[in-house]
Amino acid sequence: MRERIRCAHCSYLFSPNPRVKHQRYCSKTECQRARKRLWQKEKLARDPDYKLDHHDSNAQWRSLHPEYWKLYRLTHPDYTSRNRELQRGRDRVRLAKMDVLEPQPIVLKGAYYLMPETADLAKMDASALKVHLIPIT
Ligand SMILES: [Zn+2]
Repeated sequence: MRERIRCAHCSYLFSPNPRVKHQRYCSKTECQRARKRLWQKEKLARDPDYKLDHHDSNAQWRSLHPEYWKLYRLTHPDYTSRNRELQRGRDRVRLAKMDVLEPQPIVLKGAYYLMPETADLAKMDASALKVHLIPIT
């Protein structure tokens, strides 16, 4: 009896093709699509040349089909409203982060040594001064 293994996508048992080493997905179309999606996601993450080609290819396709997304949005109102809601959520998170982050001064309050710019650092004594930052309003 041939060995049967569990598909990594649909979890059904299947007999792997003996010509395919380390087969983890069954031959169903949806499982093969899932396998390819995962492969492409990993390839995009680790191969910058592939990512650039992928981006260029998509840009070229969009320039050849300029009306595609406009028509898609018109014929798929659920997609459009879901996308709008997701974007509102991302905008809310971004605005919340902007409220939390206050501008930080470039020079922090504290004690500093003031030295002439052209001085030989090894031979000179630095004079300690306290610097107070006065914000410009
Ligand atoms: Zn499967």
